[in-house]
Amino acid sequence: MSFTESFNAKMADAAKLMKKGVDTCKVESKVAEQQLKIKTLTKEIGNLAVIKLDNDEELKCPEIIERYDAIVEARAKIDELKAGKKNTKVICPSCGEKCANDMSYCGKCGAALKDEA
Ligand SMILES: [Zn+2]
Repeated sequence: MSFTESFNAKMADAAKLMKKGVDTCKVESKVAEQQLKIKTLTKEIGNLAVIKLDNDEELKCPEIIERYDAIVEARAKIDELKAGKKNTKVICPSCGEKCANDMSYCGKCGAALKDEA
């Protein structure tokens, strides 16, 4: 199996796992899929880097940058998933409206939702 075939097979598996993660709708499994993706990409970058170094080639090649960008994306996705998990509703102290906890003011009455301190 060529490097590209092997990489594509791993990506297909990752995609299947990611679909599974979406189906189960669990943040933990979604984070785990992203972490698996990062692990796979990191390994592929390592392999690519060795091939490039063996051939005395520039390391900043598109194949590596492409995978690195995907890693950055996956890391952002993990942060997003973890933030979403923590994103519980905040009850407005003034009117009792349930507001997203990243909001500073109540969407209904405009009262400040964050602690003044
Ligand atoms: Zn309110």
